[in-house]
Amino acid sequence: MRMNRILLAAVSALPLFFSCRNANDVPDIIPVPLSVEMGRGYYTLPERVQVSCMDSSMFAIEDFLKLNLSCGQDIHEISMETGGRGDIVCVSDDSLDPSGAYVLEVGRGGIRITAGAYPGVVAAVATLGQMVKDGKVPHAKINDAPRFAWRGFMLDVARHFFTVDEVKAILTELARYKFNKFHWHLTDDQGWRIEIKAFPELALNGGFRDPLAHNHDIYTAARAEREKDPASLLPSDRMVIRDGKTLYGGYYTQDDIRDVVDFAASLGMDVIPEIDMPGHSLKTIESFPELSCSGKAVWGKDFSVPLCLGNDATLEFAKTVYGEIFGLFPYEYVHLGADEVEKSHWQSCPKCRARKAAYNLEDEHDLQDWFVSVMESYFKDNGKILIGWDEIAAKDDFSKDAVVQWWRPWAPANKRNAAVNGNGIILSPNEFYYMDIAQNRNTLMKVYTYEPVDGILEGYEDCVLGVHANLWTEYVTSFETACNMLFPRMFAVSETAWSSPEHKDAKDFTRRSLVHLGRLDACGLNYRIPDPDGFCDSNVYIDSLEVEVSVPLDGVIVRYTSDGSIPGPESPFCSGPVVVKEDCTLNFRPFTSAGIGGHTYSAVYRASEYILPAFAFDELPESAEKGLEVCRYDRKFQDCASITSAEPDAEYVSESVVLPAEPESDFALVFRGYVSVPEDGIISFYTYTDDGSVMTVSGKPVVENDGLHSREEKSGQAALGKGWHPIEIRYFDHGGGYLEAGFILADGTRRPFTSSDLCFLL
Ligand SMILES: [Zn+2]
Repeated sequence: MRMNRILLAAVSALPLFFSCRNANDVPDIIPVPLSVEMGRGYYTLPERVQVSCMDSSMFAIEDFLKLNLSCGQDIHEISMETGGRGDIVCVSDDSLDPSGAYVLEVGRGGIRITAGAYPGVVAAVATLGQMVKDGKVPHAKINDAPRFAWRGFMLDVARHFFTVDEVKAILTELARYKFNKFHWHLTDDQGWRIEIKAFPELALNGGFRDPLAHNHDIYTAARAEREKDPASLLPSDRMVIRDGKTLYGGYYTQDDIRDVVDFAASLGMDVIPEIDMPGHSLKTIESFPELSCSGKAVWGKDFSVPLCLGNDATLEFAKTVYGEIFGLFPYEYVHLGADEVEKSHWQSCPKCRARKAAYNLEDEHDLQDWFVSVMESYFKDNGKILIGWDEIAAKDDFSKDAVVQWWRPWAPANKRNAAVNGNGIILSPNEFYYMDIAQNRNTLMKVYTYEPVDGILEGYEDCVLGVHANLWTEYVTSFETACNMLFPRMFAVSETAWSSPEHKDAKDFTRRSLVHLGRLDACGLNYRIPDPDGFCDSNVYIDSLEVEVSVPLDGVIVRYTSDGSIPGPESPFCSGPVVVKEDCTLNFRPFTSAGIGGHTYSAVYRASEYILPAFAFDELPESAEKGLEVCRYDRKFQDCASITSAEPDAEYVSESVVLPAEPESDFALVFRGYVSVPEDGIISFYTYTDDGSVMTVSGKPVVENDGLHSREEKSGQAALGKGWHPIEIRYFDHGGGYLEAGFILADGTRRPFTSSDLCFLL
């Protein structure tokens, strides 16, 4: 008690001066805090920063604090003490949410952190790190708390192996963005990465593979060559020679695991191990063929063959493995996997049939549920809560104590079942939160705008524990590629996981995320480089053109080629405009400060003349109305070309180029009318659609975005005279429908068509 009084005295000695006038700018913090009040002055960190904590268990923050104060340069010494005064004083307040809430006050006398528990101290330090500049921190008071207690991230180390240092580096970056659950996917068909003392062969054999005989490795090696991307190669420190053969792989010893678990704890992060069963188990079956129904480690129709659930030895194996796992991970949650099981293999197995008969199980689905329930009881007996992928919630009689990780937007019933059953739900919708999905200029916003509670049965919102992003690594070979997939998308997940929905602001987030990419660049960490602007997929020029390509991030340069090859580190860079005088294709590729190449963009250039409008502005017939005429065809299409001129199923008028209010799946739309071009010029258009679309202006195809695909943007240009030009937009949907079309403005902004841009004749 006495110590608390001393701390309080130290706290009240911090003079905090706030003023509405001339307040400091609000720092560019991600995720955006609950409330920020800025003061006027700055607190300058001393050379040696004295930190006073509630008790010595808080000393674990030292390294993370030092990293955050130093901004990558080793400029500060830190000393940790309990009680008393300090330049940074940490105090506790039991009334604050223990999963991360904090109050951070910076004034003339120093910095005070008030937190509900250690994770709040970590979150406060993460915020502080985003405020420090050149050893100075603006006076401010930040009152912050998380929206969700569960802010998760999964790393798949089975498909490709990541070293202890790489895992720690990723966790450090994620702690900066207030993630607090690290889900470690340790085993899969392609690799077993954790030492199990009872079965050493699992890691010794299952941790290594022949890369020349492995599909993913063959693919990524070809990609490294094709795209001049060394980050797609297998890192050389993961190669071993056995019996004269070069193998790729690695695994974590139990000491490595304890090291990572301790490290994560210093970041306020729980670690949730996953040993995927009964599917995704080829590595187990390779070492122990008797644990499968057929004795063969092979692939079935959709997935790999699973463990034999009729075999008592399988249960014994599973419990022995998890017994060791429970001892290594001191947290309540453990992940069983239980996804994507090739259940057909259980149908013909005598042991599996006997098991079904013994337990009155109707079919293979029941057999899988039986296994999950046996394991769940075992988890419970050991004080653990089972997490499973949403396959465990396919039927409605599963344990309500398990936690369901919902990942399949095409299985909404499982999310509903889990909610009604009273289970906790973690949301990892594949379409939004799978960080292995290829990126384009729209992906970041797509991740940012996902709202977790949408689609949850009304009245059951409280079952949502939080959100969780997954990085599967079939095609992610290296730490550099992993960082490219994670950033900036994890910034977006972070803001959804932490910030209140009413504080989210897409435009401001885009601006702030550029600042944070700048920090990653300065630290030599890889990230997805923002898209260059200054060209379309298809461009036109009159006589000649000066192409000015820019990336909105300092430190990034753009290299280009005109011979069709992918730009490499030796290619010329765009130090000024690139002059186009004849028809050509230019390939542009941005490079980070560290020299890591990004995505390659191809831009086609064709000479053109100005096309005259159909109507000058003062010649538009009086019968013209705003909007476009639309024909709808209720059939399946594979491309826009096959949308025939046959009788449409419906005809209507649309104010702009949008989907019908309640679209069905499998249909096509053709929009026709005129588009307004205010001045003579080269006009840039885009469509952003799922599936295909084609835009034709004055009879010329301008945007070609055809074919079956998920949301994708294509852009194109036409040289158009001032006035009204005929426009036609063909679009078809084959599931997941999305439609947007409009102009690209000079600054790169996409502006969808509005009714005043469009007209048709009655
Ligand atoms: Zn079997």
